[in-house]
Amino acid sequence: MTEAERARILAKAALFAPPAMVEADGRRDLVGLSRAELEAEMLALGEKPFRAKQLWHWIYHQGERDFARMTSIARPTQAKLAERFVIGRPAIAAEQTSEDGTRKWLFAWRDGQKVETVFIPEEDRGAVCLSTQVGCTLSCSFCHTGTQKLVRNLGAAEIVGQFMAARDSYGEWPTPKGEEGRLLSNIVVMGMGEPLYNYENLAKALTIIMDHEGIGLSRRRITLSTSGVVPMMDKCGAELGVNLAVSLHAVTDELRNELVPLNRKYPIAELLAACRRYPGASNARRITFEYVMLRGVNDSEAEARELVRLLRGIPAKVNLIPFNPWPGSAYRTSTPEALRRFAEIVNAAGYSSPIRRPRGRDILAACGQLKTESERARRA
Ligand code: SAH
Ligand code: SF4
Repeated sequence: MTEAERARILAKAALFAPPAMVEADGRRDLVGLSRAELEAEMLALGEKPFRAKQLWHWIYHQGERDFARMTSIARPTQAKLAERFVIGRPAIAAEQTSEDGTRKWLFAWRDGQKVETVFIPEEDRGAVCLSTQVGCTLSCSFCHTGTQKLVRNLGAAEIVGQFMAARDSYGEWPTPKGEEGRLLSNIVVMGMGEPLYNYENLAKALTIIMDHEGIGLSRRRITLSTSGVVPMMDKCGAELGVNLAVSLHAVTDELRNELVPLNRKYPIAELLAACRRYPGASNARRITFEYVMLRGVNDSEAEARELVRLLRGIPAKVNLIPFNPWPGSAYRTSTPEALRRFAEIVNAAGYSSPIRRPRGRDILAACGQLKTESERARRA
């Protein structure tokens, strides 16, 4: 059953495939190719496999985009590469920096589609929040992205490209040695789209990002948030082993059906069972349960107690997210008092329950506020 369901999800994802990564002049993008694919390209050019290793270093360690500056590669080979390939980045359609330092980019792809990417700096580190789809097929009632139709999936190049462009913006090349002291030190896959409905492209992108000879970000610094695509959670845990965050938001199926309509397909009991068997979950690596605090909807003390009961036995922490409003949204943020009481109950049961400080609200960069104009553009 699960195997068939997984196959169905992967087949459906193919319908929303990204366009080929090719420039108008026919040159192809090397970003987003797996190591094996890059090697195959070099062999097809009559080069040795070693050339792929060199290029990988230039592209993902040095951040170099100009073949002419790749000094370890002979001039004639540089020219041969430049005739056929580019090392791409998304075009920056807009960039805004919040008063709290959060930065948001609107990136445009070759076909004109756009997504938003956010960087959230902390004192001595920071997380880049990546998008995985243009829009989202799901329509959670409190989420701005959910009001936008799914246009297509992002390709691996586009997912890696968001991170590389963010690094460009802060001049964090070459890749700093070791993981300490990096500004762009973490990735959260919490932008636009449901990552597990674009699993293949995302997996390829994260594999590139985790490669030790390039960007080399460890899986422990990557957190993927899902609204609960149960059949793909096992695959994700087994193959990628990244940290998991689950958008729970309600403690009864009745309410969760309304808030996160995917719950009708994968109800709470099934979702929590998938969490219980998620590979690598332990007290040292807990699963994060995201819980958006909606005033008078899901924020009572009884619900906090029920949440604690549901999570029993799961190495979990709870992330309480004050609802971030957006134009036309029907909900209100919980009162500080309700937030505090809810957090206290969860805390007292032994779960850490930080209240997520909203970041970048002034530029609509906070959780659930991202949305692009794709739908309108497509209709026009
Ligand atoms: N699609 C994935 C990941 C992106 S959303 C998912 O749903 O998990 C990242 C988090 O922000 C999710 O927990 C999501 O439910 C939450 N969120 C969405 N809209 C929000 C809003 N308006 N205010 C606060 N959090 C929101
Ligand atoms: Fe999609 Fe996540 Fe928004 Fe739900 S919360 S509509 S799954 S992006």
